[in-house]
Amino acid sequence: MEALIPVINKLQDVFNTVGADIIQLPQIVVVGTQSSGKSSVLESLVGRDLLPRGTGIVTRRPLILQLVHVSPEDQRKTSGEENDPATWKNSRHLSKGVEAEEWGKFLHTKNKLYTDFDEIRQEIENETERISGNNKGVSPEPIHLKIFSPNVVNLTLVDLPGMTKVPVGDQPKDIELQIRELILRFISNPNSIILAVTAANTDMATSEALKISREVDPDGRRTLAVITKLDLMDAGTDAMDVLMGRVIPVKLGIIGVVNRSQLDINNKKSVTDSIRDEYAFLQKKYPSLANRNGTKYLARTLNRLLMHHIRDCLPELKTRINVLAAQYQSLLNSYGEPVDDKSATLLQLITKFATEYCNTIEGTAKYIETSELCGGARICYIFHETFGRTLESVDPLGGLNTIDILTAIRNATGPRPALFVPEVSFELLVKRQIKRLEEPSLRCVELVHEEMQRIIQHCSNYSTQELLRFPKLHDAIVEVVTCLLRKRLPVTNEMVLSGGGGVGDAVQEPTTGNWRGMLKTSKAEELLAEEKSKPIPIMPASPQKGHAVNLLDVPVPVARKLSAREQRDCEVIERLIKSYFLIVRKNIQDSVPKAVMHFLVNHVKDTLQSELVGQLYKSSLLDDLLTESEDMAQRRKEAADMLKALQGAGQIIAEIRETHLW
Ligand code: GDP
Ligand code: MG
Repeated sequence: MEALIPVINKLQDVFNTVGADIIQLPQIVVVGTQSSGKSSVLESLVGRDLLPRGTGIVTRRPLILQLVHVSPEDQRKTSGEENDPATWKNSRHLSKGVEAEEWGKFLHTKNKLYTDFDEIRQEIENETERISGNNKGVSPEPIHLKIFSPNVVNLTLVDLPGMTKVPVGDQPKDIELQIRELILRFISNPNSIILAVTAANTDMATSEALKISREVDPDGRRTLAVITKLDLMDAGTDAMDVLMGRVIPVKLGIIGVVNRSQLDINNKKSVTDSIRDEYAFLQKKYPSLANRNGTKYLARTLNRLLMHHIRDCLPELKTRINVLAAQYQSLLNSYGEPVDDKSATLLQLITKFATEYCNTIEGTAKYIETSELCGGARICYIFHETFGRTLESVDPLGGLNTIDILTAIRNATGPRPALFVPEVSFELLVKRQIKRLEEPSLRCVELVHEEMQRIIQHCSNYSTQELLRFPKLHDAIVEVVTCLLRKRLPVTNEMVLSGGGGVGDAVQEPTTGNWRGMLKTSKAEELLAEEKSKPIPIMPASPQKGHAVNLLDVPVPVARKLSAREQRDCEVIERLIKSYFLIVRKNIQDSVPKAVMHFLVNHVKDTLQSELVGQLYKSSLLDDLLTESEDMAQRRKEAADMLKALQGAGQIIAEIRETHLW
């Protein structure tokens, strides 16, 4: 398995970079009849003496043997540290003072470390007896053992009790069935490789191991046949036909091995010696097949199967890396390059902001908002919808009653009765009505101002993202634009109220007599003319007449029925007011947006760039404004590191895909 170590280690780096789940290597499960040599095969694969082996039923509980790769540095780093019981799973810790290359740990003995492999074997035996008794009983409850070593890959091997037919000792009557179920439970896991072990001195055609494997793996995609005890065949027979696949073909291969005999075990023959002797035996007995059999070849074949598995997992990993790399690349791009020429950068950022600001108003911005109206479009909406509608909803005669009108007429007439309806009264009243358009007009300015303010945020968030790197510059720009906007507010309000053809104009016009011109085409003019040609009654009705009360106590006429003359006067005034009001309102509807555009929107648009440059583009401010946000340098470095790691990971994957194990 050692050939896989560098690959797995490299992959581990990749996983660490991308945070993917580690590739789960297939479990290797041995199946076969009792004493066929299953434990021996596993042991020679691990390369250490650690499993109980022998005649009769020795393996009586499943043993889940998890190999955990530890790098030599890890061992040095962790030895002497406190051991955390919660991390049993990944523990590489050694208790204080213990320096060992390889060690084992059982789940059931918690944190106890076994550095002596004889002790491990003894513990397996003890633990087997504890649950299954000492009289050949079998238990489905697994023993969990972890072996930590720099010479293994992270891989799980499962040793199982052998298949049997006849109950012996304490074994229940249905022992055959029980063991069968136990085996099936492990080998039906699709992520397991089945080592179907058959002894060479039994008939392969009756192999129970292959039979049960076929049940879960009918296509033979994950079953590897292992023929043990090649050395124990009857004199005059050989396993040629079996090994050549002529008896039963096995897709992944049939590999013959020679494990240590019971005598070898008793004599404590080493794994190395055993492998050397196995090689010699194969050379002598099966010269043509020697290089395709033996423990070493079995290990290599398993390596190859595992490698296939790893390669199958790589495309997905590769995709993930590519996606992440692209994400980090764009993140890095958004962070921008570190600043070399501060002066140029400052000017560039200011200009970019100003341009984006104007573009948003013009509707030519790069980043077009789709969720809501913004910029110029919103200003247009404010003018036509919000402002227009509000104006239209103002009633020309709202807040004006007949009494008001009469009082105005009378007040304008003075002490002597007038011949005609006095013009002054109309002027007085219409001014009052038109004044009611002031508030919506000012509100319109306010709304546009708010929108202009909002565009600042829009530009700095979306269009000029680099600004986020320089919070001080960002704040300074916002400040300058906000000030500029605020400065324009009184001017614009004033223009809307007084000059520029705004509300004020209209309000003032009647006093200058221009209103006549405005009314020329309207019906009101005719009305007025008609009115003037009529004869006048000598004394208009007066509410106070004939009452012996103090006249000064009656400032407001009390409600009463109007005289015909009064009625007509009122009507005339009302109609005049209405006509005039409508004309003025139309004018205002046109002129206020014009004034706002001219004095606020366009003015800001035209002066923004020079204002920003004038206030911010100063050598004394340069360093301060271009101070990056504290974590930006850090974030840029992190993103760059991550990108580099991802690119490295991509490289590693490409390498692994090219890797040939032999
Ligand atoms: P298991 O019950 O399938 O786990 O079989 P073991 O691994 O415990 O082996 C049963 C016995 O067969 C042990 O005494 C081994 O020494 C012996 N044995 C296993 N493989 C071989 C082999 O290839 N050659 C010889 N001579 N003996 C073997
Ligand atoms: Mg065994």
